[in-house]
Amino acid sequence: MTYDRNNIFAKILRGEIPCKKVYENEYVLSFHDINPQKKIHIIVIPKGEYIDLDNFHKEASEKEIIEFNKSITYIVKMLKISSQEDGYRIISNIGQHGGQEVAHLHYHIFGGEKVGKMIV
Ligand code: 5GP
Repeated sequence: MTYDRNNIFAKILRGEIPCKKVYENEYVLSFHDINPQKKIHIIVIPKGEYIDLDNFHKEASEKEIIEFNKSITYIVKMLKISSQEDGYRIISNIGQHGGQEVAHLHYHIFGGEKVGKMIV
């Protein structure tokens, strides 16, 4: 599978589609999900062209991998939902069985209220 540059998150990264930005640095962009499933529902994406977590771990640099994962802790602290506060959940849907709709690697961060069962 090759990376599709026309996916929605690629368009957001290029500024072709607007987003409600939460955080950005050299490696990641984070924004509010357009259809939030919880009070807080944030998307975090790497800036590089990666389809999913497996493709990311195969192709990305160590620095990109570290920065992507560390950004989660930074963002949840910004949002005041870290492990020191009420907590949160992250998930990444991968492939067909995982229910991935947008083929650019992303984490969902849910919080701001009790997230509920692990799998619905
Ligand atoms: P997936 O199912 O691929 O894990 O999640 C894709 C997510 O992207 C969904 O939660 C969906 O609501 C969100 N999404 C789809 N299109 C847009 C968009 O144009 N803007 C934003 N901010 N989120 C989007």
